[in-house]
Amino acid sequence: VENFELNSDKYFYSTFPEISIPDQSLTSYLLPYLQRHGKKTITIDGVTGREYSGLEIKSNIEKVASFLTKLGLKKGDVVGVILQNVPEYLMIFHGILLIGCVASTITGDYQIEEIKKTIGTVNPKLLITQSIFQDKIAGITKEIPSIQNVVVVGDVIPNTIPFQTALDTPINYPNVKINSYEDLAVLPFSSGTTGLPKGVMLTHRNLLSNMLQIQAVESPTYTYNEVVIGVIPYFHIYGMIFFLCVCVKAGISSVSLPRFDALSFLKLIEKYKVTITFIAPPVAILFAKSPVVDKFDISSLRVLFSGAAPLSVSVENAIKQRFGGRIHIKQAYGLSEASPAIVITPYGANKPGTSGMLLPNQVLKIQDIATGEIKGAGELGEICVRGPNIMKGYFNNPKATAEMIDADRFLHTGDVGRIDKDGYLYIEDRVKELIKYKGFQVAPAELEGLLLKHEKISDVGVIGIADEVSGELPRAYVVKQANQQVTVEEIQTWLNGQIAHYKRLRGGIIFIDQIPRSSSGKILRRELKAKVLSLEQSK
Ligand code: AMP
Repeated sequence: VENFELNSDKYFYSTFPEISIPDQSLTSYLLPYLQRHGKKTITIDGVTGREYSGLEIKSNIEKVASFLTKLGLKKGDVVGVILQNVPEYLMIFHGILLIGCVASTITGDYQIEEIKKTIGTVNPKLLITQSIFQDKIAGITKEIPSIQNVVVVGDVIPNTIPFQTALDTPINYPNVKINSYEDLAVLPFSSGTTGLPKGVMLTHRNLLSNMLQIQAVESPTYTYNEVVIGVIPYFHIYGMIFFLCVCVKAGISSVSLPRFDALSFLKLIEKYKVTITFIAPPVAILFAKSPVVDKFDISSLRVLFSGAAPLSVSVENAIKQRFGGRIHIKQAYGLSEASPAIVITPYGANKPGTSGMLLPNQVLKIQDIATGEIKGAGELGEICVRGPNIMKGYFNNPKATAEMIDADRFLHTGDVGRIDKDGYLYIEDRVKELIKYKGFQVAPAELEGLLLKHEKISDVGVIGIADEVSGELPRAYVVKQANQQVTVEEIQTWLNGQIAHYKRLRGGIIFIDQIPRSSSGKILRRELKAKVLSLEQSK
């Protein structure tokens, strides 16, 4: 498919030389690198200070693979992974992939119903989680009957297997043949352009490609002695590709921090002389504005790498002003369905407001949303992308897959932008429903589905409201049932018990008479947004 002749000057091609991608599994590719890194520290537990060398990680990956084999797991079996950013993530993730099993990763912030609606839909045989999520384990196993065993990192929990058992397992695992084009490596979740979160089928080739595409652009920036800090969650494709793949290959030491808090983050930068940090825009704002930053010696830091949501030019400028040329800002744009990176700003060749240049092996077309007409350089349209990193599809959902990937294998991102004649991409807007709060996905359809279950609500539409710090805040427009009284607080409290904290309606709840809908019943979100604007302007 990738050799498909693209003989059109309507497309935009990467200016980086094409790279070749080996036909093998991601983990079998990485193990020799870990061997080569030898005694060099690859991961540091930011909480305990425990360091793991390349050799140690390699051995632990093989022990996990052996342990899973002993438990009866076979190629194609799905393992649900609910872990914070802990060093064990690396060993568990690659142990799963080494024997051809599939890691389905979600946040530990999810409530039982959200877990059921995500990893519950991909039939996991095993759950690997952490003792801090102890309260949820019984509920998860009750709601997801395909789970046969639960392995727990941290404290020993009754009726579960301690992760130490995996590390005590003698190395003995089968040499599983992987078809890198077809066999799945991971199943994270994304709502895509519309609807509820769906399992994103990413193959070994998808991840291997993106890791090598990123490395082709990034390797001139990095030395073997870099230290990075991992605050982007590993369950999300952005954290996964950088911390569990790119850093492992490059032999870069990463410090893991289970939960972001500004003080611990800055303290760790100072302690380990961190040189690069991968962040989402709200953390960039911390560097731009917060006086707390001055309390720490962060002089080692030379690269701030921002992704997952738009970084505003004003924040970029504020950082430049504060730190002069000392801290270099890089950006990337991508999405889970592209494993994830599509563009990155090359070192030293930035233009203000750009999200970067096309990675190698990446082809772009900019397409008019309404007419489908292909646009030229500098013209606005939907960003559509092709390449070896584009997902196989959504799990058990050919309809949603067909809506997202066209006949020429271009992925329609739902993002609107333009590419200039020098190959720099600018993201201008988002036409898909998705709301991004601090880089986290919030699917309006999911919140609407829940809110409609409230007995006093007759109709609802959820949209994102622009916010300087968090990017967007989810806001609900609610139509009450006739002759019913209900307060904003009542709805918030009722809803918050059912959702992860980042999905909360921080943009508020506003009561209105009618939600604008099309004749087929679809919420007209643009109209709803326009209504909001006119309501606000009339105040
Ligand atoms: P996810 O699949 O969670 O990574 O979400 C992907 C979406 O986040 C993209 O389709 C964009 O809407 C948004 N996004 C990611 N990176 C950027 C960026 N650098 N600038 C603007 N939007 C971004």
